[in-house]
Amino acid sequence: MQDVPIQLLESLEKRKDFSKDSFLKAHEQPPVVSIRLNPLKTVENEALFPNMSAIPWNPNGYYLPERPSFVMDPLLHAGAYYVQEASSLFIWEILKQTNVDTQSRVLDLCAAPGGKTTLLASYFTDGLVVANEVIKTRASILVENVSKWGSGNIVVSNNDPKQFAQLPGYFDVLLVDAPCSGSGLFRKEIEWREGWSEANVELCSQRQKRILADAYNALKENGLLIYSTCSFSQEEDEDIVDWILDSFSVENIPLQLDAAWGVEETDSDRHQAKSYRFYPGKTKGEGFFVSVFRKRETSGYAFATATNIVQPTKNERLILDGWVENPKDLYIYKNGNIFHAVARQFADDIALLKNRLYLRKGGTELGEIKGKDLIPSTELALSLLNAEKTNRYEVDYAQAIQFLRKNDLERKDDMVNGWTLITFKQRNLGWIKVLPNRINNYFPMEWRIRKQ
Ligand code: SAM
Repeated sequence: MQDVPIQLLESLEKRKDFSKDSFLKAHEQPPVVSIRLNPLKTVENEALFPNMSAIPWNPNGYYLPERPSFVMDPLLHAGAYYVQEASSLFIWEILKQTNVDTQSRVLDLCAAPGGKTTLLASYFTDGLVVANEVIKTRASILVENVSKWGSGNIVVSNNDPKQFAQLPGYFDVLLVDAPCSGSGLFRKEIEWREGWSEANVELCSQRQKRILADAYNALKENGLLIYSTCSFSQEEDEDIVDWILDSFSVENIPLQLDAAWGVEETDSDRHQAKSYRFYPGKTKGEGFFVSVFRKRETSGYAFATATNIVQPTKNERLILDGWVENPKDLYIYKNGNIFHAVARQFADDIALLKNRLYLRKGGTELGEIKGKDLIPSTELALSLLNAEKTNRYEVDYAQAIQFLRKNDLERKDDMVNGWTLITFKQRNLGWIKVLPNRINNYFPMEWRIRKQ
């Protein structure tokens, strides 16, 4: 097995928070397995797996004693939980300690595949989370994960961080979970050890500054900036923290730690600003770095201008309202031929964001009207919006896997003709259309399980 790069170890050995023995010993062990439950689709402490144990810094986080085959679990596809590295779940503790309003507008600037986005959506229950990913293919994975999560309060954009300069002072919270050299994940991604180099660390640190500088103006006065990486290199961590304090008018926010968590508080060289390091061997999780700031200067203000948002016609609205439980609470709009819904209070936000960004998803996709019928989108199936009167059909494990493979399902006598939600353990998986002598499986081709 490829060793942890020697130059990285040499740089870490100079740090007083680093313990080489425990670090190397931990790197001979497999990574810690952890999940985060979706409060919209599970009940508190629901034991989805045997012997789950609580992660202390996130009420929805749990360690698992071993790694099951997540991909073959229909509940993963239903969005009942997200497989996420334990240390990064600490973002929740930060939001709790800084007392952020759950109605905030939040930008998750580097969001794919969506681990932190879905965490943010669970915290900001009455807020709006804009999850941005600059790389197109990764934005598709983000859309998939966010759709499965089923929160109606997420917008996915596919923009360069520069474009957020067009939203001055709009966000209450800015999370920059920056692309980095990745040394914190060396237990999980062993092949990354070989690709690691000091030159790449330097490249990453330049890019991190660029990303922060591009998006900073989108943060409101008194807004919270959270900067995180999964790198152990000071050039990408505390040195960036010093650069942030040199470049912007922000105040560094210290956090309270429980000694039992094994998280290291560190001081940056120039400003002695507080940051938090998670080392495998000390903390039960992978490598993670985070530092928190509050903006102490005014910004401009982004306001909505006239947009080309298309509203449904009366007839279309009548059709759409039949599919959702509380249509009066929803703002429904049309993007191309597809209808989308967000909570009514975010109508102006959608107009503004659509005007300034390239949106891949804005709230919940409902589907497309053809003739007098809606072809419902899988996003609608996975959301909490479905009307109670919608047909549902509960399947067993084998049938659920057949459905998720997009294979044909057998027409059963107790099925009712028409659009039907397939459910497994009472969680929606997607749509089928039951016809008199067959079933059409509407699970998205690109999401199907391919593993044999
Ligand atoms: N926050 C994600 C999560 O919790 O699932 C992980 C984000 S990952 C550490 C960093 C992301 O930044 C990647 O998805 C990567 O594609 C994106 N990225 C790469 N280059 C970027 C750039 N120049 N500007 C913004 N984001 C970039």
